[in-house]
Amino acid sequence: MNKEYTDIKQELIFHQIKYLENESMKKHTTFGVGGRADLFILPKDLLEIKATIDIIKNKNINYYFFGSGSNILVDDNGLRGIIISLKKSSKKIIFDNDKVFVDCGAMLGTLVKKINQHNITGFESLGGVPGTVGGALIMNAGAFGAEISNYLISVSTINMEGKIKTYKNNDIDFAYRSSSFPKNELLVSAVFKCNKGNKNTIKNKKMDASKLRKKNQPLKYRSAGSIFKNPSQDLAAGYLIDKAGLKGKRIGGAQISEKHANFIINIDNASSNDVISLIELVKKEIKLKFNIKLELEIKILGVA
Ligand SMILES: Cc1cc2nc3c(=O)[nH]c(=O)nc-3n(C[C@H](O)[C@H](O)[C@H](O)COP(=O)(O)OP(=O)(O)OC[C@H]3O[C@@H](n4cnc5c(N)ncnc54)[C@H](O)[C@@H]3O)c2cc1C
Repeated sequence: MNKEYTDIKQELIFHQIKYLENESMKKHTTFGVGGRADLFILPKDLLEIKATIDIIKNKNINYYFFGSGSNILVDDNGLRGIIISLKKSSKKIIFDNDKVFVDCGAMLGTLVKKINQHNITGFESLGGVPGTVGGALIMNAGAFGAEISNYLISVSTINMEGKIKTYKNNDIDFAYRSSSFPKNELLVSAVFKCNKGNKNTIKNKKMDASKLRKKNQPLKYRSAGSIFKNPSQDLAAGYLIDKAGLKGKRIGGAQISEKHANFIINIDNASSNDVISLIELVKKEIKLKFNIKLELEIKILGVA
C-alpha cells in the first residue's frame, strides 16, 4: 500500500471510523462473489461520512459507494481504491404527519415494515426488495408495479467536496431501474409522502407480493436478483432466457436459475468470471435468437 493509503488509514483511526483492509467482497455482496477491496469504510453517521469525505477529497484515489451490495457484482481482481458503504450507517426513520424522513443507510424492508405499521399505502410490494434506501433510490427499485420513486418528495446527498445538496423528486429522472443522481454524490437521506390506506388491504397486498416472490424467485441461493432489465413492460428477460433453453445452464459455480431464468445463482463458490461468462452467453444467445440486446440491471464493478 502506498503513502496515500497509509495517510487515509491513520486519519480514519484518528476519527475512530471503522474500516476493513484488503477485504473480500464475497462478504459484502449478496452474490457472495468478488475479489478484495483495498479499503472498505463503514461510517456510522453523517458526521463520519463528512469526515471520511474530508479525508479522501484531495487524494488521487478511486472511490465507490455501496449500500448493502445486493445489486453488485465485483470482479475477481477486486477493487483498487476505497469503498464507502452505508450498510452500518445510521438508520433513522421518523414519521411526521404525512411525511416520513429516512436515512439512506436504513434497510428498505425495515422502512416498508414501519410504513405498513402506520397504515400507509403504496410501498407494500417493495417490502421484499433487499438493500438500503440509498441503493433503492439509485436503482429506482421496484416490484409488482410499485417503484420507490413513486412517493418520493426529496433526497439529500453529499458530494466529494463535502457539500450537502437537496433534490426534489422532479429534479431527478427516474426510469425503470435507473435514476440520474450525479455519480460523485452519496445519498444520505430522503423524505417520502405518506398516504393513509386501509389496514387489511395493505396487509393483503403485502402478503400477495411476498407469496409471489417466494414462489418465483430462487431465494435459497445467493444472487443479485434480476441480472437483466426487461426489454419492455410486456416482455420479460426471464421469458426470453427460458425460451432460449438456457435455464439450468451452468458455468463453474454459477448457474442460470431453474426457478427464475433472469436470476444467476451462486451454487458452488462461483467466481465473478463464471457469472460474467454466463451473462455473455445469455446476451449472445438472445441477440442471435430474438435479435434483442439485453441490458444489465446489476452493476458490475472493477472490470476494466
Ligand atoms: C434476492 C433478490 C431479490 C431482488 N429483488 C428485487 C426487486 O424485486 N426489485 C428491484 O428493483 N431490485 C431487486 N433486487 C436488487 C437489489 O435488491 C436492489 O437493486 C436494491 O435496491 C439495491 O440496494 P443496495 O443497498 O443493496 O445497493 P447496492 O447493491 O449496494 O448498490 C446498488 C447501486 O447503488 C449505488 N449506491 C448504493 N447506495 C448508495 C448511496 N447511499 N449513495 C449513492 N450511491 C449508492 C451503488 O454504487 C450501486 O451503483 C433484488 C436482489 C436480490 C438479491
